[in-house]
Amino acid sequence: MRATLEWFGTATWRLEVDNTVIWLDAYVDRAPTAAPLRLDAAAIDRADWVLIGHSHFDHVAEAGLIARNTGATVIGSALTCEIVRDEGVPADRVTPCVGGETLQLGPVRLRVFASLHGFNGLREWPDPRGRDTRARRDDLRRESPELCEAALAHLANIPEKQRQDGGPLAYLLEWDGFRLFWHDTPGMVTASWEAVAAYRPDLALLSIAPSTPNLDGVPFESGHAGFVAHMAAILKPRRVVLNHHDDWCPPLTWHMEEEGFRQGVQASGAVLQVRRLNEVFELTR
Ligand SMILES: [Zn+2]
Repeated sequence: MRATLEWFGTATWRLEVDNTVIWLDAYVDRAPTAAPLRLDAAAIDRADWVLIGHSHFDHVAEAGLIARNTGATVIGSALTCEIVRDEGVPADRVTPCVGGETLQLGPVRLRVFASLHGFNGLREWPDPRGRDTRARRDDLRRESPELCEAALAHLANIPEKQRQDGGPLAYLLEWDGFRLFWHDTPGMVTASWEAVAAYRPDLALLSIAPSTPNLDGVPFESGHAGFVAHMAAILKPRRVVLNHHDDWCPPLTWHMEEEGFRQGVQASGAVLQVRRLNEVFELTR
């Protein structure tokens, strides 16, 4: 079986396993300030399943559109399913999950795990230039006022239901002896991660972002690199690729440099690989 993965920024990926297309999250039509993708959501014509980690707009935004255009089935929390039902996806093409489910998606065995969301707004994480959100915004307002207004307009139009996380989920996908773990917000449930580890993931797509990491409902105070290292130490994957660490909505976001995570990942015995926007790479053991 040939499998490829393509990164669309934030935590959105397109997985293809032979002829089966599975989207991991569905945030494609990004802020105009973000680096461009090769296609917009309306142009997506192939999808069999759309897995959503949680219901915030930067994960679920285009799930309904993609499912309507392709006939795909959406898998996610009850709130995720409600959001896409509101957008016209029929009831027989949504599968609400809470964690604990095992589903067969064509050649892919999917296991669903309960997860948690990072703490937003607990503290201000300064960017590499030491600016807080207000300073970043003021800089961009001065440098490119039109782009700044466009980014703020993008964030102003978020539907109310997409401002709630709906209860995050994490997923383990397995085909042909290859196991891929993915979650989409810097939070974790130790029991879930230990259960995933028992399957020995080949690749873990680990989510990190400027929010405060959430370890079993408690703020993780040892920093972002420490949190990724902690997750890798439990999961023991062969390889780690970061996601949601990119500059997906400037001026509010910035790219978190991968090198700062390498040492902690290596300490778990895994290799940190860096993947770029729009890059397609093959998944092999
Ligand atoms: Zn979120």
